[in-house]
Amino acid sequence: MPAIRQLPQSVINKIAAGEVIERPASVVKELMENAVDADSSRVDVTIVKGGTELVRVVDDGRGIAQAELPLAVASHATSKIEDADDLFSVGTMGFRGEALASIAEVSRFVIRSRPAGAEEGAELQVDGGQTGPAAPCGMPPGTVVEVRDLFFNTPVRRKFLKTPQTEFGHATEAFNRIALAWPDRHFRLVHGERVVHELAPADRWKDRIVAIFGRELEEVLIPVEGEHGELRLSGYVADPTYSRSHTRMQYLLLNHRYIRDRSLQHALAEAYRGLLLTGRYPVCFLQLEMPPEWVDVNVHPTKLEVRFQDSGRIYRHVLATLRSRFLATDLTARVGNTEPVRSGPPAAPGPVSDSSRATRFLVTESPQDLPWSPPPPAPTTGAPLPPTPPPSWPPLEPPGQVAAAGESAISDAAAPQGACVGPPATPCGAGSASPTARGMQLQNRYLITEDERGIVIIDQHALHERVLYESLRERLSRGKLEQQRLLVPATVHLRPDEFSALIQAKEWLEDLGIEIEAFGGSTVALTAYPAILGNVSGDEILRQVVEPLMASEKRLERRDLLDEVLHRMACKAAVKAGDRLAQEEVDALLAQRHLCQDAHHCPHGRPTALVFTREQLDKLFQRT
Ligand code: ADP
Ligand code: MG
Repeated sequence: MPAIRQLPQSVINKIAAGEVIERPASVVKELMENAVDADSSRVDVTIVKGGTELVRVVDDGRGIAQAELPLAVASHATSKIEDADDLFSVGTMGFRGEALASIAEVSRFVIRSRPAGAEEGAELQVDGGQTGPAAPCGMPPGTVVEVRDLFFNTPVRRKFLKTPQTEFGHATEAFNRIALAWPDRHFRLVHGERVVHELAPADRWKDRIVAIFGRELEEVLIPVEGEHGELRLSGYVADPTYSRSHTRMQYLLLNHRYIRDRSLQHALAEAYRGLLLTGRYPVCFLQLEMPPEWVDVNVHPTKLEVRFQDSGRIYRHVLATLRSRFLATDLTARVGNTEPVRSGPPAAPGPVSDSSRATRFLVTESPQDLPWSPPPPAPTTGAPLPPTPPPSWPPLEPPGQVAAAGESAISDAAAPQGACVGPPATPCGAGSASPTARGMQLQNRYLITEDERGIVIIDQHALHERVLYESLRERLSRGKLEQQRLLVPATVHLRPDEFSALIQAKEWLEDLGIEIEAFGGSTVALTAYPAILGNVSGDEILRQVVEPLMASEKRLERRDLLDEVLHRMACKAAVKAGDRLAQEEVDALLAQRHLCQDAHHCPHGRPTALVFTREQLDKLFQRT
């Protein structure tokens, strides 16, 4: 084993450089941050060949005195903090005093700077860590840094660089993040000869966002704002119609610093739960402001990840602010509107398309908004619509019977509605399992999960039907259901008696979003129908209305008809036995079960869930 040796400074610097400077984009980030820290009002970034050949950043900021230039490029030399205490209240982008030294270590580096009061500027060159003498030069006040041939003296690093186009993509992203965080400054990005961005100072943050990311955002950004003591969240979230297949369009700024934070991403996903298709992610531009001492930015050399003193509080604030915003915004209707207008035959069986997945899990504006009322007493006679009676729990079996039920848990299917195989203290249905309990799909029809009672097996169709039914009923109680208009009305031929019964119910049906017109003879034209039935044909929809109308001896009451049609709509819109669900869909469905009070029975009274209690299982396995 060789003796322990102190490493030469140049090696130390190269190791440090490796941590901060990964690619040209890192240079762009560090130099732009320095320009911002110097209170520049204008920052020009020029990149050649994706930054592998040249990155130049010119600013009109405070500048560096000639005598301090050598210090600026020395490692651990900074004007931004003085002692270790300052580390915990960092108000600038930089503070480690490492960036210029690191960059200069692995490139051909030139810095020119002139403080506002100075007669002239000074220039300093550093070639792969070899610092030359400072020399006077003529220039306007401000600072220019040029970085050429990045990694020319670390060939392994250089080999890892991607094509100029890819590197340029990363560099642009670095530019965007900083330009986004400082809308009051002028930024310009030039790649080769091409001006990529010319961003004039913006009064409103939205103008900066749109200038960077495109006009199409203008229409979809929903402003959010929430204050909680010294914690402030502001910015925009995009309408769910404008989502992405990745999380890279989630811009989260903490005190002007772009950060990535898993827990806040999770809060965002929670807020959008039920509003986005599987595999789609929200787009957002959010600023978090809090006292600098609440957060440790010195966790990671690039400061991309930070550590919050009280991350739980921040999570809750973000989630609560977004949720209350969403509740005040009719997001579901917007999503519904984007569903393609269609008529004609039902979709061919087979793999479910993305758009039908959209509607089938679009149950509520937010999980909080799920109905919290018991189901009608019987499935077909129909219960009064609003006002809903107070919750009444089905009778519970005494503990002795639960144990005796033993292997016969499955016979619960045949048990009278309301019977429950849970321990007496647990209401049947849901509400007691942790909302994060995961589940899996088996046989393309059952979801298996657990709660504190034991193993729960859920019929996916029955549960989804129940959840949709509750949601529809709750929405109907608040007004009309969202509807989808048909560009070309669907015409349906009926028997004369069906026709007249249907036309008589015309007004009632409008509350459900179903609009019909007499179309000559006994033909009706369907012009609009509930958005939730995205994939169901006009013919089928009218069948669901005509059948209960014709089945009843006497004339149906409005509420009975509507309730029956809701049941049928829920059944049509719900996932079927045999539908393969993505894991996210399984999770989404199970999450809704916990929020739906009577998850135990589908609207037709079949159980949605069977519970095998731990006691039962222990007994069966003869574990006493
Ligand atoms: P840090 O930003 O962490 O302090 P840097 O290595 O990036 O470390 O910069 C070192 C010092 O050089 C800064 O503290 C600052 O005083 C000075 N400096 C760097 N860039 C600029 C600039 N564009 N304008 C004015 N001063 C600068
Ligand atoms: Mg810096």
